[in-house]
Amino acid sequence: MTIHLPTLLVVCVVAVAASAGVMTLYAATQRTYRGFGWWIAAQWLLALGCLVQMFRDSAPELLPLANLLLLQWPVVVLGGMRRFSARHPSRVPPVVDALMLGGAWMLWLVVWASGGSLASRVAAYSGAVCALHLYSAALVWQMAETRGSAATRMLVGVDLMAALLHALRASAALAAPTAPATGLVTEALLLGSALVIVVSALVMVYLALMLTGERSESQLREIHRQLRVLADIDLLTRVPNRRHFHELAAQALAEGVEQPCTLMMLDIDHFKRINDLHGHAAGDEALREVGRCMHDALRRQDIAGRLGGDEFAVLLPAAAVDDALAVAGRIVERLAQCRAEPLGLSIGVVQLQPGEPLDEALRRADQALYEAKRQGRGCAVPAFGAESKPVFGESRPLGLSPL
Ligand code: GH3
Ligand code: MG
Repeated sequence: MTIHLPTLLVVCVVAVAASAGVMTLYAATQRTYRGFGWWIAAQWLLALGCLVQMFRDSAPELLPLANLLLLQWPVVVLGGMRRFSARHPSRVPPVVDALMLGGAWMLWLVVWASGGSLASRVAAYSGAVCALHLYSAALVWQMAETRGSAATRMLVGVDLMAALLHALRASAALAAPTAPATGLVTEALLLGSALVIVVSALVMVYLALMLTGERSESQLREIHRQLRVLADIDLLTRVPNRRHFHELAAQALAEGVEQPCTLMMLDIDHFKRINDLHGHAAGDEALREVGRCMHDALRRQDIAGRLGGDEFAVLLPAAAVDDALAVAGRIVERLAQCRAEPLGLSIGVVQLQPGEPLDEALRRADQALYEAKRQGRGCAVPAFGAESKPVFGESRPLGLSPL
């Protein structure tokens, strides 16, 4: 079977132009990222290269242009990858891409212009294509941002396949420089080159759409994560807000926390005065410090939250009332260390009854906190018994006099 080169080229032109058209249509109607335009350009230039190749016999002066248009593909695709992964730039500067393409094209041009044999021209062209594909594969592989992606591995695979095929073509031409150009091996390699062009173009569509899809998905995941943070975390103190505290604490209780489990409610003493005397920013800073000190004094399994204003709550699994009072002491100690102005805290502590709903425990802790305020602030008060008949334990001074 002899290969009809014009038919082969028509197949290439149609396949590559179709893939370029699909990508152009996609970019016109969907959100794409940086680099997509380069990939589209690589496809259209490749299709144009195949088209110009069709006139190689009638207008041989077009051959340099045609070959440049074919050679550009791996380099322009790489340019797109560079832009797509711009946040993790390659150590090899982009100017090297242009130098590689220019150098490869010039190598072929010199051999072609010097009127060398067909074998030397084939070897020069295929050697140039091989070098460019290897260069592109190495740099694409090196780009950390997209290395894990199946699409990227596929592109590297296509690059390596093309490099191997053209290495074979170049070595076949060099090994038998006088063999007729229509020899069986030459034909098989020609068919292979055309196949690689078509496969590369199709893989490019897959790659571009996959990478775009992956990026959109990861951006959506990030937006979702940020929205969750905004919905759950009190941005001033960086502790869970009231709703999220309820969610976390109720979930922990439903899953069965280690007993005994205590609940602590904390409120800053005379906080209004800080706002009034030193301004709202100073009040905000005091709230931040309480959040920080609470975080530092708690264990991983403890659940803290800002209930609102200057009021905080902490659920302490595997902690008896005495343990909770010790934690309260530690929080106040840390506050004293990090603040120039003393900041008093009043704290109510309750131990959760078996099966007691969180809201009920919070109301009992609130009663204990109120009792701490009533007793003069700057102390922790434990409460026992039911919500309707609270019994308060001995109050524990927290080492700071209220403002
Ligand atoms: P007490 O000792 O009885 O707790 O008195 P207090 O002054 O602390 O009174 P209360 O707890 O009722 O005051 C809470 C104040 O906290 C009222 C409000 O102006 C202020 N506040 C609430 N949220 C914020 C905030 O995010 N930033 C600042 N700077 N102030 C806040
Ligand atoms: Mg207060």
